Amino acid sequence: MKPPSLRKGKTPRRPAPKKPYNNQKDPVGVYCRVRPLSCDDEECCIEVIHNTTIQLHAPDGLKANRNGEYKETQYSFKKVFGIKTTQMELFEDVSKPLVDDVIHGKNGLLFTYGVTGSGKTYTMTGSAGQGGLLPRSLDMIFNSIGPYQAKRFVFKPDDKNGMEIQNQVDALLERQKRDSQQNVPKTPSSRQRLDPEFADMIRPEEACKADGVDEDSSYSVFVSYIEIYNNYIYDLLEETPVDPLKAKPPQSKILREDQNHNMYVAGCTEVEVKSTDEAFDVFWKGQKKRRIANTQLNRESSRSHSVFIIKLAQAPLDADGDNVLQDKNQVTVSQLCLVDLAGSERTSRTRAEGSRLREAGNINQSLMTLRTCMEVLRENQMCGTNKMVPYRDSKVTHFFKNYFDGEGKVRMIVCVNPKADDYEETLLVMRFAEMTQEVEVARPVDRPICGFAPGRRQRNLAFKDELSRRLEERGGPVDTEIPAALNQLLQSFPPLPPCEISDPSDDQTLPRLIEALERRHRMRQSMIDEYNRTANMLKSMLQEMDGSLMNKENYIHQQQGQLGEKDKCIQDQKSEIDRLEKKAKMLEYKIDILQKTTNIYEEDKRTLQHELESREHRLAREQSEKKRMEARMQGMVYDTKLQWEKECERRVNAKQLEMQNKLWVKDEKLKQLKAIVTESRPENPPARPEKPQRPSREKDRLPAKRSASPSPVPSSCALPQPCPPHPASYTCDPKVAKAGGTGGPLSPKASGLSVASCITDWEQRVPQDSRQRSQSPPSSRAPDSLDRRRGRQWQLQHQHQRDWEVPQQPDHVGVEEVAGPRTGAPVRPHHRRSHSAGNERWVDHKPVTNVELDTVMQPNLPNSIKVSTPSEKALSKADKYVLTHQEVASDGEIQTKLIKGEVFKTRSGGQAVQFTDIETLKQENPTASSRKRRSSENQPPQGDGNMQGGWTDVENRCSVAVEMRAGSNLGPGYQHHGYQKRRKP
Ligand code: ADP
Ligand code: MG
Repeated sequence: MKPPSLRKGKTPRRPAPKKPYNNQKDPVGVYCRVRPLSCDDEECCIEVIHNTTIQLHAPDGLKANRNGEYKETQYSFKKVFGIKTTQMELFEDVSKPLVDDVIHGKNGLLFTYGVTGSGKTYTMTGSAGQGGLLPRSLDMIFNSIGPYQAKRFVFKPDDKNGMEIQNQVDALLERQKRDSQQNVPKTPSSRQRLDPEFADMIRPEEACKADGVDEDSSYSVFVSYIEIYNNYIYDLLEETPVDPLKAKPPQSKILREDQNHNMYVAGCTEVEVKSTDEAFDVFWKGQKKRRIANTQLNRESSRSHSVFIIKLAQAPLDADGDNVLQDKNQVTVSQLCLVDLAGSERTSRTRAEGSRLREAGNINQSLMTLRTCMEVLRENQMCGTNKMVPYRDSKVTHFFKNYFDGEGKVRMIVCVNPKADDYEETLLVMRFAEMTQEVEVARPVDRPICGFAPGRRQRNLAFKDELSRRLEERGGPVDTEIPAALNQLLQSFPPLPPCEISDPSDDQTLPRLIEALERRHRMRQSMIDEYNRTANMLKSMLQEMDGSLMNKENYIHQQQGQLGEKDKCIQDQKSEIDRLEKKAKMLEYKIDILQKTTNIYEEDKRTLQHELESREHRLAREQSEKKRMEARMQGMVYDTKLQWEKECERRVNAKQLEMQNKLWVKDEKLKQLKAIVTESRPENPPARPEKPQRPSREKDRLPAKRSASPSPVPSSCALPQPCPPHPASYTCDPKVAKAGGTGGPLSPKASGLSVASCITDWEQRVPQDSRQRSQSPPSSRAPDSLDRRRGRQWQLQHQHQRDWEVPQQPDHVGVEEVAGPRTGAPVRPHHRRSHSAGNERWVDHKPVTNVELDTVMQPNLPNSIKVSTPSEKALSKADKYVLTHQEVASDGEIQTKLIKGEVFKTRSGGQAVQFTDIETLKQENPTASSRKRRSSENQPPQGDGNMQGGWTDVENRCSVAVEMRAGSNLGPGYQHHGYQKRRKP
């Protein structure tokens, strides 16, 4: 039974479109072949460590890379073939599947890649006895399709990369034409005819054959051989005129795209070959031509790419299985391209010069383009991009465009020479190979099956055999014999009784015959019945079977429909999976980046934390430092406060004493007044003037004794005669002497107090005195600018002062003037020591409590007796007395007073000091006192009124009183202002 589609008519199903959508992809198969070293003592840089991996060792001269590391890199391939690999083994693994595909109508591309001398040509072509992939592929094809080849010229290339089918007559005519032209035997009788180079390339035991060859198709093999040199394509099989005069340089060919978008070399010779030897022959011719061209044009074969194309055309036999179906659409053309690429070494290695350099550059350029194409393809496939692949940049890539764009199986054999010299070039080759492995090519789909029933060829052959046998037998006896089956059937019938009638009266023979014949007839009838019954049964059985077959077919159709849907579903899911995988890759990449970023941030965080910690430490340290400082400052503040409190207390005390003194002075005055009153009365005897009572705390405690009687002289006093009662003159009473000391009952300021009392006393008189002396010119006062020099002039001026003082009134006149007119003669005639200038002696009394001020202006008293407590002994040796007294002024400054006096011998033989002068040395803060200074500097005394207004402090008035009294024409008030930087508050 024929399939339903055929039962309806003889027209076969239309073939499916040539390239159905196929998204199944296979990576480019990259293999590595390591050739043996030329000589054993060469340095080797490659080691096969696994059947898929090789390891490259940098040669001795190149042991370290830029980082100084030992370089050892591994590269993996689909398979690695070591030096011992035979051509056959290589063929089995690499080439055989491609040939198998070609026979089954699928395209294949195989190329060898490597530097010159790495064994590309050896691998592709081989040598005598060591046939390479090319002869073996051809051999396998012919071994497989040999019996099914179409007659020559049945298939005819159409110049557009397609194949036409000629009718029998045209093909026969063309065959006859060819035979007459070339006179070549149809098939080479032996291999001896071949070039010795190709003889015995394949041993008979190595012969290979493809499985599953479609017997119901007819095949034809066409070969082309082209060379791409300097980016030009040359046809190596082109017929050239035999006449060398007509010979012209080979013309380059161009690439075209056919209707199926396959690239082909336009006008390229395609030679139909019918056997391996014939194909070899053609190849050899092309090879020879190539060599001649290379020699003639001085080119190097290693710089050109050679492409051997095996095209296999196949078409199904017609329904009779007799002839090729005359339908162009049923022709399947598959091709296997065997490419021996140019050496991949860089230009520098080829040592090319001039135009040769350009050639080499182009060759490398085409390999570079191949590399770029692979890179772009890989990127597009891995990252889902759609970058344009620059196939057109070189002829090689352009030619093979549809293998990568469309479909086909692509394999590459990377040939390497393990010698150390090639190391660097080999590295580049390896990188290219690694990258190429990641490129994927669409898997070729199966050829659509034609609709005819299979086994046509066999049936036709059997029929033909039978026919020819019968034809042969026709010459013999005519075929009148009963066929054996029939004979057999006849023999199964009961034998006929003898039917010879010799006796006319024989009436037994005929009835017996009749009976036998009737029996036979009955048997025949029953057999016919049986036959009919059986036939009917068979018919019904067949009908039944047909019905079930129909059902099954329907079911199959249904299932196929479902299968198609499922397939579609699977395809969709696969594409979804692809998409997701790509996405996953992208995400992984992103995760990687994020991980790296996180690491960086964490590192930053750690450093910042570290910094923070150190800063916190520093802060804590600074805070504790601050606390310590605060504690110290508080201590200091407390100390200072205490100090000031003490100082304030001291000042209050001083003021109190001063006030008490004033009180005492007033008391004294009252007493004196009283004395005057009593003196004016004659009946009252003149009273001895009262010795002025020194104010003291003891005295304060006692009831005030305002009598004129002198205070009792203590028994310890060494002075036999009490001093005359003069408020401003002190006898050298031990009490007085003690006043400047420290051990007395008085405070250290006691001497200051007694002095102050004197001053107060003088104060009372000053207005009177100043009025008396107002006639002296106010301008006589030294200009203030002189004040500064006074420090230096101090001694001298005082010398002058003494000089004019001596002949005039005694120094104590300030007091006696008041008392004198009333009391008459002086109370005590002073004995004046002679003191010519230079030989006077001073008692320099400096109480130990004095603060050493280091003032510039200090009295310089040569030859003085320095004492801290004045004693009678010291006074007896001197005639002048000076007391350095310090006290705190109202503005807080320390002011130093030099209270000067003259020492007199009393009539009783004691010593008395009469104070004559007070000098004030006042330290002022130069900045704070500038206003004050200016006022005293710029306002010369204007007269009495001015004097009173201008000088209000006790010392000034005091000095005026003294000096005016002395009749000085220098004017009032020498003030010794020691302008000095303030040392302590
Ligand atoms: P290429 O074509 O790469 O320039 P060839 O194929 O011409 O290199 O090889 C150079 C030489 O090395 C030849 O003489 C060849 O016989 C030899 N050769 C290459 N590969 C092998 C191999 N696998 N075994 C033995 N000899 C080889
Ligand atoms: Mg070569």
